[in-house]
Amino acid sequence: ELGEVAASLDMRAYLVGGSVRDLLLNAQTQDVDIVVEGEAPVLARQLQARNPELQVSVHPSFGTATLSFPGGERLDLASSRVEHYPSPAALPRVESSGIQADLWRRDFTINAMAMHIHPERFGELLDPYHGATDLKERRIRVLHSLSFIEDPTRILRALRFELRLGFLMDAMSERLVRNAVHLDVFSQLSGARLWRELSYLLDLPHALALSDRLSELHLWPVLRGEPLADPARFRARVARAVDSLRWYRLLFRAAPEVAGWRLWIRVFWGDLDDARLRQRLREFQLPARELSAALSDVEKLRQARSRLLKPLDPWTRYQLLSPLSMEGLLALLSWDECEILQAQVSEFIQHQYDLRLPLSGKDLQALGIPRGPRIGELLAQLRRAVVEGHVTDRETAKQWIRQ
Ligand code: ATP
Repeated sequence: ELGEVAASLDMRAYLVGGSVRDLLLNAQTQDVDIVVEGEAPVLARQLQARNPELQVSVHPSFGTATLSFPGGERLDLASSRVEHYPSPAALPRVESSGIQADLWRRDFTINAMAMHIHPERFGELLDPYHGATDLKERRIRVLHSLSFIEDPTRILRALRFELRLGFLMDAMSERLVRNAVHLDVFSQLSGARLWRELSYLLDLPHALALSDRLSELHLWPVLRGEPLADPARFRARVARAVDSLRWYRLLFRAAPEVAGWRLWIRVFWGDLDDARLRQRLREFQLPARELSAALSDVEKLRQARSRLLKPLDPWTRYQLLSPLSMEGLLALLSWDECEILQAQVSEFIQHQYDLRLPLSGKDLQALGIPRGPRIGELLAQLRRAVVEGHVTDRETAKQWIRQ
């Protein structure tokens, strides 16, 4: 219907970008992207007039509109921008010139295909850069040699598609990445934009492959502000963290999800010295809560780490580990190849992270303790008694209180 409405307005509409790629891969696509040669907001309004259940938000200054369907699906409409036309007054009515210019601005050949949704040519593929061949041959290829210089975030996007799709950059694109890194293109990029792209990468379930690829392409100095001090040791740590995360998720299926990217912040940047770590994470402009949680975890992790290389008594261990988030604990669990440390941290994660006291403040009142600070003190002592194993259930807790 969209194609027909567009045609009735004398506009051509195309499915573009990731939507075409996913369609050719038979993969689920998230958002559907449409480019129209014409005013996307006008088309959006017309569609809404015919389908009142559609929610439409338009951004006239960008020439874009978003349609939301009752089922939650979204469709983004954009106008193929015309700034590359020779002169606005002389809009060439050459077939598809708008879409051609639009595709030329895209990142990789596999994302630079369009599909006609115009009724007469519905389903016809427009593939000026041979994206379909690259898709078949599992290749990420830029459209031109200045691509990464124009937009360095494309370097991280290339890694994202490599890892997510199991593709590889072609030799030329990879050479262009190395060249761009050598020219220090990332210095032009704000930390916040860098982080945005990076966070997608850190969310993928391929941390070890990611880390290896970042090493191969000499990207660690860009991301950390300094090279890896000991690449082999770093890699072993990442490999252990992958195992820890898998272990945690298998063991605690019902537990609150740990966010991969939070773990990877701690593992990938946690060995920097304090000042540099602070500076890096500030530059990324993480939300304030994430920033302070990450900094606190790293600080606590370092304090705990050296002490946990030897067996500690349960209460000391509990006090060292309870300020850490689960992501911080998993980072610590992977920090060193040391069985004593690993045994102590995994014991804490399994039995004490989510420690519930057998009695509450209300229970204590029912046992005759008057309201007031005494209740808090007793609960703190009870916690210690539980950690040390003197109290195991409600009954032993009550006996312990009575003593
Ligand atoms: P995903 O499934 O991750 O959403 P996608 O390809 O749809 O994949 P988006 O980031 O939503 O990824 O981008 C949509 C399209 O916009 C891409 O397919 C690509 O054509 C284009 N694009 C996005 N970012 C850039 C960029 N930095 N440079 C050039 N083109 C880009």
